[in-house]
Amino acid sequence: MKRLFHYFSVVALVVFTAGNTVAQSNIDTLVPIRGFCIGAPKPAAVDNFVKFIKDELATRKVNTLILRVDFNYQFESHPELRDSVALSKADVKKIVNVCKANNIRVIPQINLLGHQSWAATTHNLLRVYPQFDETPHVKMPEKYSWPNADGLYCKSYCPLHPEVHAVVFSLMDEICDVFETNAFHAGMDEVFYIGDAKCPRCSGVDKADLFAGEVTMIRNHLASKNRELWIWGDRLLDGKSTGMGMWEASMNNTHRAIDLIPKDVLICDWHYERADKSAVYFAMKGFKVVTCPWRNPKVAAVQVDDMVRFRKESAANMQNNFQGIVQTVWSGPDNFMDGFYGKTKDEKAGENTPWNCFRTAYTKINEAK
Ligand SMILES: [Zn+2]
Repeated sequence: MKRLFHYFSVVALVVFTAGNTVAQSNIDTLVPIRGFCIGAPKPAAVDNFVKFIKDELATRKVNTLILRVDFNYQFESHPELRDSVALSKADVKKIVNVCKANNIRVIPQINLLGHQSWAATTHNLLRVYPQFDETPHVKMPEKYSWPNADGLYCKSYCPLHPEVHAVVFSLMDEICDVFETNAFHAGMDEVFYIGDAKCPRCSGVDKADLFAGEVTMIRNHLASKNRELWIWGDRLLDGKSTGMGMWEASMNNTHRAIDLIPKDVLICDWHYERADKSAVYFAMKGFKVVTCPWRNPKVAAVQVDDMVRFRKESAANMQNNFQGIVQTVWSGPDNFMDGFYGKTKDEKAGENTPWNCFRTAYTKINEAK
């Protein structure tokens, strides 16, 4: 839903004070991961984004930057998969350097498994390698609308295709190398097409096994290079019994994969309309988890309080599974910075904007005690 209701509108600026004015002694103990997740900038926006990292992220003690890169990099291993306008190595190094200077860990993201298309557009992997498509019989519509007869939200690749991993793993290795990082975010959210009845490889296979198999394969490849895997948590939650539904949880039986994947996969548990307590569920299953708000400042404030309280009040074995907060932004930096700095307005959204949410969450984080 976060992307279905893709958010380009912006709002009248409400000025909050930056959270960095509050003296901190134990923020690293209470909220070890303080994240910010956003689309990677296009090349023309890199310098502004670097300034934003320095001026707004570092000052609020953000220490983790998840950058959704996808095909916005001039990949050398697979130049055929580059976006037409894409970041150069020099662009990436500007981001890497400002993050290093401010002790911010950069975690690049390429969507794996799901999110291989958006609306009527097929993304690069399946456009160049249509044989990897889990549902080749589902034709992309001229004009996309939801709901639709095919249940087409986004295309997936087939996790059992014998050639898909050679391609996606080389992208993954290359993007981790250029960002000089020891962690990679594989997305893996909102996978609606999995184990399709018409797929010659996946038909009839348990969907939880398919999802867990893919997570495990990606995790093992990263682990062989001493890198961590981060994913969104929604496919591991039962959408029916929890009432969380098909977006922020699973209605296609992938949720049992929670007991099948390695425990060192870090879970990004996103909930945007309510402060669901599913971080506790992940932590009790033995996972490290971060809670992710988006555009609702009131929900974010509760989520920060919850995270600190869960961490402080849990049994010793579990405390360290509550790792922190990641503010998610479902646009690129240009749109976000325009809203953040009050250059664009959207009366309709009121206070519920990603930038207000970011300010509120980080004011709370910096006040945590
Ligand atoms: Zn398949």
